[in-house]
Amino acid sequence: MCHRRESARDPKLPRVCNPREANPGRRAPVSGRTSLQAAGLVVAGLVMAGCGVPRATDLTPPRTMRHLGGPPVVLVEDGQPKATIAVVVPKERYSATLQGAVKDLQHFIKSATGAELPIVQGRFHGTAIVVGEPSLGGDRMPVEGFAIRAEGDKVLIAGRDGEVAPHTMSYGTAWGIYDFLERFVGVRWYFPGDIGASVPQSRDLIVAPVLVEDAPVFLKREIWPSGGPTVTPFTGTHHRRMRSNDAWPVRLQVHSPTGWPAIYGKDRPECFERRSDGTRNFDMLCYGHPRTVETYLETLAAFYEKGDKAAWGGKPPIGNAITVSPNDMAVSCTCEHCRKLWQPDGGQYGTASKVIATFVANLAREVKKRWPDKTVIYLPYQNYTNVPPGVEFPDNVEVQLCGMPGLAQYKEPAIAASEQANIDGWVRLTGRKIQNWHYSCWPEDQTKAAYLFPHVVQQHYSRNRRKTVGSFINGERDHWDRQNLSLYVWMKCLWNPALDVEAVIAEYCRRMYGAAAGTVRELVAMQIDGWEKSRWPNAALSPKGVYEVSYPRESIARMEALLAQARQEAAGDGLVLQRLDYLGKPLADFFAEARDYAESGNRTPLIVPKAAAQPTVDGKLDESAWATAREVTFIRATDKANPQCQFPTTLKAVWTPSGVTFGFRMAEPTPDKLRRDIQGSDDSLAWWNDNVELFLDVTGQRTGYYQLIINPNGAVFDAKGHSVDWTCKGLSAAAHVGADFWSLEVFVPIAAFADAVAPAAGAQWFGNFTRHRVCDGKPREYQRLNTTFAGPSNNMMAFGPIRFVE
Ligand SMILES: [Zn+2]
Repeated sequence: MCHRRESARDPKLPRVCNPREANPGRRAPVSGRTSLQAAGLVVAGLVMAGCGVPRATDLTPPRTMRHLGGPPVVLVEDGQPKATIAVVVPKERYSATLQGAVKDLQHFIKSATGAELPIVQGRFHGTAIVVGEPSLGGDRMPVEGFAIRAEGDKVLIAGRDGEVAPHTMSYGTAWGIYDFLERFVGVRWYFPGDIGASVPQSRDLIVAPVLVEDAPVFLKREIWPSGGPTVTPFTGTHHRRMRSNDAWPVRLQVHSPTGWPAIYGKDRPECFERRSDGTRNFDMLCYGHPRTVETYLETLAAFYEKGDKAAWGGKPPIGNAITVSPNDMAVSCTCEHCRKLWQPDGGQYGTASKVIATFVANLAREVKKRWPDKTVIYLPYQNYTNVPPGVEFPDNVEVQLCGMPGLAQYKEPAIAASEQANIDGWVRLTGRKIQNWHYSCWPEDQTKAAYLFPHVVQQHYSRNRRKTVGSFINGERDHWDRQNLSLYVWMKCLWNPALDVEAVIAEYCRRMYGAAAGTVRELVAMQIDGWEKSRWPNAALSPKGVYEVSYPRESIARMEALLAQARQEAAGDGLVLQRLDYLGKPLADFFAEARDYAESGNRTPLIVPKAAAQPTVDGKLDESAWATAREVTFIRATDKANPQCQFPTTLKAVWTPSGVTFGFRMAEPTPDKLRRDIQGSDDSLAWWNDNVELFLDVTGQRTGYYQLIINPNGAVFDAKGHSVDWTCKGLSAAAHVGADFWSLEVFVPIAAFADAVAPAAGAQWFGNFTRHRVCDGKPREYQRLNTTFAGPSNNMMAFGPIRFVE
């Protein structure tokens, strides 16, 4: 059909093209472009009839697109339905996904032309779109593949449907319908909901005789979440239209097994992580002790041979895949077996790599002997993400590799290179393609910048066409408003990375923003280029990198002006204004954060006076040095409406040339119930004790931080950024528990940091401080000195100044 322009106000545009009359080569230019460009090359019917086989340059190229002979198929003429939608899919294959697609087929043809094509079940004699036509041979097609054949009085659509492996579905026919809607009706779905759809208007829908065949490059194209309270009611539908599915048969059960403490905690404590104080952390397995592999094998035998699910605990294997995926925290077992394999220099993503990979290798060798049809699926993550040296796997291991920084950060060449090296390493070690677990919610949680990174996405999948089976995209909420073009390109590249990203961007702006298209295109280009082309200090995400390098003050001012200009240009166009509002909300947050960074005056500073002598670290805060220190008060971390704490916390600090002493006082009506079962160091569960946390940007450069978590026993967790292998040497901490409070003194020596600005009058650090009241849990309260009322506490945007004075 002919693509002109779209309008919600006037869906019944005059008939603008008739494939039997039109000759696109002779048509007058529209809006200064040739009609062919204006038509966006959708126009399958029109252009094909006149010029053979076109392609819409903003869509991925199909594997086959062949012009057939004969007259075109007239589905709608002059706004009148001339065809029927005949569904010939067997009942057992008429999945909810396909039913949704058939409804969409009817809905979007009507939206485009005004004509409602009736839907019938079974054969139809007359002009029809036939859904599930068996003569196209869907069962012989590749998984998720489809064909569209327009010939005679029929448009036949069919694909590979049904279960292709245990719990693994193929939805080829549905994807054929969506391809038809995109390629032949000209529809695009850029974000969830009606306003995210672009539906060109025409009173005709006439399809030239053609055969289209296609199948995805990647079978794993899963975007999450598609339902639940954190997304809109339209998100799941949108994901279906983006052909989101996981048709790869090897299925991971993330963070599995669960429930082992109840089953094995008492009799097999050695299967659980040993803390530095000798106690066991039952929330994490010990992957070094031989008993853990034995237990895994016993539970597998019970599960496979006796059908006993209870032995495994929660999240049992799916299909033929046996999961190794530790619980959601860093691995830090201190037992002798694990420490032998520990890599102290392994860095943020590697200290425990050898521990878990050795476990995987040992398990996989036994699995190969006993259940040769099974695959061990392993999720490298956290401090065991990097490929380990000196480990060999048998050939039954597959890896689902976490892209820990988040795909958006692959724009930094150093990050892209190390991520690629890791992918290549895992491909070599396993001898097969990897699956990816990717984050769209990281680093989204660390900045409100409305960055876009479509070229980064395209490059990743082009490079890894033969190395990955695709991705699970881990979001947290409906992030289409902020990341829409990136996510759209992401889903398209998972279908086929041979995507012309520039054509997508141009089409998106032209279709969606009417008179403001040019202005939005400039705005989008700034969102993309600011992110993709900037290079951050140390290749590290930080407020400085985002707001001084990627999007400096003048860029933000220009982007604000462009958004305002776009709104003016779109005046009177209700649909375009709604779309601008949709984009505008995350942009407003972005602009506000940029302003906040520039001013950063609304943070409560911690003023640190010099002390004549270092206070004794006994938790009592009674030395004379404390008398001159200025006290600051915490507020609730995320409760903007009600920021006053129920259990007040105050903080003060003093410095000497050798270091800084921090003093905390926590109101606590039930100090006997303080949760304080951790004695040792670097316990990843320290945060679930009553604790205070210190985030210290000791360079004052706002590019990184050190983290300390300290509980009422004075037990310390210390890390440099995400790297737990850093130790704060020389730190001393002591708590004092009073009748209705507990207090804490922490001395942090300057010598513990390689890069600290030494305290002196006028010197400045940045940082933040938190208290997590766990205690009796009535109620739990999470507090910060400074907060943006959102995000995690390591969000450097919330950090305030720490100013040293004489
Ligand atoms: Zn261990």
